[in-house]
Amino acid sequence: MGTYTRLPLQIVRGKGCWVWDSEGRCFLDAVAGIASCTLGHSDKALRRTLTRQLKNIQHVSNLYQISEQEQLAHWLAENSCADKVFFCNSGAEANEAAIKLARKYAHKVKGIERPKILVANKSFHGRTLATVSATGQFQYQRDFEPLVDGFHFFPYNDIDYFSNLVNNLESPAPNIAAVLIEPLQGEGGVIPGDKSFFNRIKELCIKHKILLIFDEVQTGMGRTGTLWGYEQFPVEPDAFTLAKGLGGGHPIGALLVKNEFNLFEAGDHASTFGGNPFACKAGLTVSQEIKNRKILNNVIERGKELQEGLDYLVKKFPNTLEATRGVGLIQGLVLSKDSNLTAQDITLSAINSKLLVVPAGKKVVRMVPPLIINKNEISKIINRLSLAIKQIKS
Ligand SMILES: *Cc1c(COP(=O)(O)O)cnc(C)c1O
Repeated sequence: MGTYTRLPLQIVRGKGCWVWDSEGRCFLDAVAGIASCTLGHSDKALRRTLTRQLKNIQHVSNLYQISEQEQLAHWLAENSCADKVFFCNSGAEANEAAIKLARKYAHKVKGIERPKILVANKSFHGRTLATVSATGQFQYQRDFEPLVDGFHFFPYNDIDYFSNLVNNLESPAPNIAAVLIEPLQGEGGVIPGDKSFFNRIKELCIKHKILLIFDEVQTGMGRTGTLWGYEQFPVEPDAFTLAKGLGGGHPIGALLVKNEFNLFEAGDHASTFGGNPFACKAGLTVSQEIKNRKILNNVIERGKELQEGLDYLVKKFPNTLEATRGVGLIQGLVLSKDSNLTAQDITLSAINSKLLVVPAGKKVVRMVPPLIINKNEISKIINRLSLAIKQIKS
């Protein structure tokens, strides 16, 4: 339907951090299906477990017990601050579930009739009607009014603004049910959350019994070098959402909650495909491989090298580049305000240098490679990016 501006490239095959197009050209992939192909392309373990899963059973619906779903839920609960999991198929769906949970919490626990959920400017929570209403970027909402009611925006990383908002006795303070926030804003421009800001949010949420929900759709599953983005502060949420990296390229989303906030009862929420055996086997394999292959160490080391390489590019091209931002293997290269270059210009030029990158807003080039990337491939990203910038400038 023309909802995407597509790049002039058809990818037909992949292996690890490399992909090949229909003309046989080979590219280094620092996009990974937008932070999704955690183990890279055509991973051996995923191939093996998913082939076996297809031979057994693919989909049965949630009318029945699903052992793969239970195993993945156990793994997630054992390895996070949460206890219970609801499975769906995407990030937007996971956040929809979180928004419904927050509303139920407001009605059942807090006795609020018209609850507000606090969300950040420049946030991104998805494209369904409720999640786009929660997204703090007007370009995604334009033409889709009336939006879903009940969201109130605040500037990200602004402690004073947030404190005043929550401590204010006038509207919306008494009606605040939840805060929905990304530990690091991905689509909004790779903006890491401040430790002190998140600590203050946690403090205020405890004080006012506000549900704290993290959108870990992009930061979860090891992307930042810890399994969960919230470990970077560290600040534990009451609930959080996952999708992108969870299935290693296969669609799956999840809402995780602590027991205390497990308010959904039978019939409250559902999904036909959510938690199907195939998707959960993918999630389980990715989870186990992250542990078995000590992938978190790799994210920390490669992330450092990537950031150092990008810092070097900022020094090398001071008129074009302004800064680098990011944590682990989600890194952004910020273009200088004075330059009229856009992230899309760099993305197109990088294709000529056989490198795939993805914009995060107009002025930030984002790199979210597979978490299994090696040292040599990191230096290739830097070399090719350097070439791409040089080519544009001349
Ligand atoms: C990508 C993303 C979403 C939306 O996920 P979909 O699977 O595209 O619906 C939501 N939140 C964050 C933080 C994301 O990065």
